[in-house]
Parts: sequence; structure tokens; C-alpha cells
Amino acid sequence: MNQQPYDILIKSATILTLDASNTIIPSGAMAIKNNVIVDLGPEEKFAHHQAKVTIDGSHQVLMPGLVNAHTHAAMTLFRGFADDIPLEPWLNKIWPMEMRFATPENVQKASTLAFIEMIRAGITTAADMYWHADSTNEAAFITGLRLVNGIGLIDTVGKADAQNKETLVRRFIETHMGHSRIHPCVQVHSTYTVSQESLKLAHRLALDYRLPLITHASETRTEVQTLLSRTGKTPIGYLESLGMLHPGIVLVHCVHLQEDEIEQLSQKGVAVIHCPESNLKLGSGVAPIPALLKNGVTLGLGTDGAASNNDLDLWGEMRTAALIHKGISEDPTVVTATEVLRMATLGGARALGLDHLIGSLEIGKRADAITVSLSSAHLVPQYDLISHLVYAAKSSDVRNVIIDGNLVLHEGTLLTVDEERIKTEMKVLATKIAGFYSDRVYHQP
Ligand SMILES: [Zn+2]
Repeated sequence: MNQQPYDILIKSATILTLDASNTIIPSGAMAIKNNVIVDLGPEEKFAHHQAKVTIDGSHQVLMPGLVNAHTHAAMTLFRGFADDIPLEPWLNKIWPMEMRFATPENVQKASTLAFIEMIRAGITTAADMYWHADSTNEAAFITGLRLVNGIGLIDTVGKADAQNKETLVRRFIETHMGHSRIHPCVQVHSTYTVSQESLKLAHRLALDYRLPLITHASETRTEVQTLLSRTGKTPIGYLESLGMLHPGIVLVHCVHLQEDEIEQLSQKGVAVIHCPESNLKLGSGVAPIPALLKNGVTLGLGTDGAASNNDLDLWGEMRTAALIHKGISEDPTVVTATEVLRMATLGGARALGLDHLIGSLEIGKRADAITVSLSSAHLVPQYDLISHLVYAAKSSDVRNVIIDGNLVLHEGTLLTVDEERIKTEMKVLATKIAGFYSDRVYHQP
């Protein structure tokens, strides 16, 4: 009998490691101690081991937690608030509401709701971009999610203000460097919404701390045209002119790329985050993922915010990503189930500079893992596990979620926060938002 019990032992599961060889262990077990995967292999190997918590993984797949590589969690505040309109009027409708309602307290509440939804859907890591980053961090602390987060650099008024902003960003980064579950990054909204000075400052900070720099780029045709008329360059060309295309740069969307830009992103080692449902919903277009894949660009998958999706479900995102490019190219061989599942796990982790920690189930990596039930009618029979997960599984099939060695969802029950209380609070808040908007639109003198 082993005298050193594991913290968590998951037994009798089909283990989908998503390691370099895509190893699948048909009847396996995985042991966790503290926040690390300390062992995994065939079931028999663990016959005499004990654990503080044992999870029966029968008829389930044990796999890496999903990585939502781009979101704005607090935008659950505006889920369904501005549907069926293009990006620019959408922003014009959302931004005034954000000014009024995206307070630190509300951002924490709305992000908590978002993280509950994500955890229930098997997402163990999210990369967030929003105001009041400390409030989002707090939501991650209490729900148990792993978070990549930063203070978004926006334009400031005057030199003192700029210095103050830089100090705040540096303090945020230094406070969270080395944290086991909160990973700082540097962010700017986009090339069309911030000045060259802000972009340069963000770049300098990212290089100083060797952190990923995340920004939206080439999301819509209008954005590209705006930048062309302002600078004579596309967003990618503009970033290139600032020396901002290299490994560690993470570009979200990249829907409207010129052919030579695809090659350029590949050669420069820039990562791209694909958000197909947000791009479809806002009528922005479809990113050239088959060409980016062909050129070996590191790709992650993101839901974007709930106001432009409108859920935070990477299973739906995977399916959309796997289907949309086949339809457009009239070629069912492009963007395979395996490629999409990798985008939603190791690809996202790699884009965010976390692939040495998460994204696959391997000994020594952080214990971010989920179990997905294979028992429901829509998953019977089963021939190919990965196809099954991408084309047939649903977020409701997720049974257990472990993040950084902590059991966060156990047999469908969330262990970290009072979900009903958060939902009730958000309904109250939504009533205020709807009331304020209708008052403003229809009754303003
Ligand atoms: Zn976004």
C-alpha cells in the first residue's frame, strides 16, 4: 500500500492526453498532488494507491481543460443587449452602457457569472480583456478559474496621466508574476482605438516583463479601411512598422488578412486567436483559418464576450470552427476535429505562453483537467473519440473540473461559489440596465 496518498485520483477513465503523440489510454488513471499531475497511465498501475478524493471516471473521457483564449467576461452584463447589428453600431450601443454600469463591483459580479458558465463548460483557463482587472481577478479567485489578465492600456491625457498608467500596469504585473493561477499579460484594445504612444508603451512593457501582448487586429473590413486611410497601412502592416510582430504577440480575430500577411504572421511567430461565432454574429466575416493552419501559425480559440456570441461555450465554438471553413471552401478536409480540439487546448495555451504548464495531460504539468460523460444518447455509439468530442459533445456533458489541482466542479455540482445567488444578483442588475437604456432612448427630453 502506498503510504503517500494523492490529493486526487481519477480512475477508470478514457484518458485523452493531447500530448505530442495524441496518446489515448483506454482505461486509465491520473494522480494529482498539490497542483501538479504526478502520474498517469493504465488503471492497473494505480490499483494499490490511495487518494484523499477519488473520482470514478467510468464511461467518461479525462482530458485537458479547455482554454478560452479570448473573452471579455464582464460583458455577461450585456448578453443579448445589442443583437443583429454590425460591430461599429454595436460598440456605439454598448460603450455608453459600459461607462455607466461597468463599475468594479458589477465587473466582479458579471465576471463571476461568466466564470461559472465557463467552468460548467469545461473551460479551465480564460484570457480576459476588460476594465477593472482587479475585479476580474477576484472573480477568478473565488470561482477557481485560471486567468490570463492585464490592465488594458488606453490613451491618457497628459504626461503625468501616462506615467500614472504605466505605474499601475507595472504594479499589476509585478503583483501577479509567479502566481499559480493568475497570469499577467499586457493588453491594448486595437490599433484603431489607441494612439501609437499607447501601443509603443504596451510593447515596451511586454518586452520588459517577457509577457504576451494581446490586441484585437483586423476584425472588420471597416477597421482595416479606417487604419488604411489614417496611416496608409493595414493593422498588420501598422504593427509591423512599429516592430510589433514577433513571438509573444497575440492577435485576436485576424478576419481580414492580405495573403502576404498570413505568411508574415507565420514567419514572425505571431499567434492568432480565432473567435468564429463572434465574427459571424457581428457579420465581420470569417478568418482564413485553413491558410493560417497551412502556414503553421499558432492558433487558439476564443468565445469573445457574451454580448457578441452570446454564450461562453467552447464546445459550440469548436463545432462552428470545424464546420464553417468546410462550408466556405467546399472542402470537408480542412480544419479537422483534431486541429480544432488542439486550438481549444494546447494551441490556446501556447498562444498565451502557458503551454509548458497547461494544455495537455502530462506528468509534471499543472493539474487542469476535465471529465466528459460519454453516456448520453447523442454520444452513442462511439467510433472516433476526438470527432465525437468536437461534433457531438455538449458543455452539459462535462462532469468534473479540476483547476490547478483543485476540484471545482464535482459530478456536476459547482463547489466554489453560490451560483443561484450570483444569477439572482445579475437579474436585478439587468433590470436596472434595461430600465436606464429605455429611459435614455425613449424619454430623454
Ligand atoms: Zn474581443
